[in-house]
Amino acid sequence: MRNIVVLGSTGTIGRMTLEVIEQIGDYNIIGLATHSNTKLLKEQVGKFKPDYVCVYDQDASKNFSSDIPVFVGDEGLVNLVELDDLDFVMAAAVGAASLRSIYRALELGIKVAVANKEPIVIAGDFLMDIARKNRSEILPVDSEHSAIFQCLKGESTAEVRRIILTASGGPFYDRADLENVTKAEALDHPRWKMGSKITIDSATLMNKGFEVIEAYHLFGVPLDKIEVIIHPESIIHSMIDFVDGNIKAHLGKTDMKIPIQFALTYPKRNPIADQGLCFESLASLNFKKVDFVKFPCLKMAYAAAEKGAGYPVVLNAANEILVSQFLREEIGFLEITGKLENCLSKFSGEKLTSLEDILALDCKIRNTLC
Ligand code: MG
Repeated sequence: MRNIVVLGSTGTIGRMTLEVIEQIGDYNIIGLATHSNTKLLKEQVGKFKPDYVCVYDQDASKNFSSDIPVFVGDEGLVNLVELDDLDFVMAAAVGAASLRSIYRALELGIKVAVANKEPIVIAGDFLMDIARKNRSEILPVDSEHSAIFQCLKGESTAEVRRIILTASGGPFYDRADLENVTKAEALDHPRWKMGSKITIDSATLMNKGFEVIEAYHLFGVPLDKIEVIIHPESIIHSMIDFVDGNIKAHLGKTDMKIPIQFALTYPKRNPIADQGLCFESLASLNFKKVDFVKFPCLKMAYAAAEKGAGYPVVLNAANEILVSQFLREEIGFLEITGKLENCLSKFSGEKLTSLEDILALDCKIRNTLC
């Protein structure tokens, strides 16, 4: 049995992770963390009997009583990954909240499955560097990156001509006018069942932009070799085009439990009860060019990654604030992009030399943007 901590256990990926662990049974859950969903955390504690928990939100933590120790805040997440005999961290907390704890786990040589892309987007260089130095491993959970990771097994990145990231295109790919998009329409993703923040990011294609930055850090391939293609069926999760004309594609059902299980069992593969993908039922697989004009977020993400320094931090923090404003119906759908562009144009491009610099800039953007 391996000991695992699940950060963000009450979110969509966190809950699926616990279901997968119940199925595969190789893990002993020693720590769980929620942002503020103490009701569900209580149920999870009753069922999975962890030794420690963390409630990230200070106020929510006051309503949570338990027989086991309760950590709080950023420091609480770090305390969880510092538990004795920890083997594995599933990092599935929304946003940048878990950055310090992911860094600390990698520093301690612990394997980390990263399901939330923000830490890699804003601190990819630092995380890859500390993982290399301490011989720990980052396992991608995002379906596209799990696909690329699998296609690259046994290959050299020097022989990659292109990474082709597939994008479903979200709910609006074929819609002409995005002016009056409602919250309900934006939350109605045609393929994937995900949390609300990432679903809005899929509708603006910012999610794909973050994935470009994530792939750039995780696989060490230059940005001009990372392409995005619209593939509405989301059956091909990504492809690698090698220099000799051979292409490897990863296919699978649109079920996040598949990449979650792969990360948890890697390098082994555990059988699942499901019958697998039925090719006869797939009418066709379609591909379209990305419309960078209609979805400027993707272009902004490439530009932010190219410029480096604090640009990806600004992109991520400002986007997170704007998406939450949209979800509260305070701003319109197109304002997410407009205000984001404005925010990036005002940034002076200061260089960041530490994790603390990143978190300070992240905090500054969250406080001053809106
Ligand atoms: Mg994805």
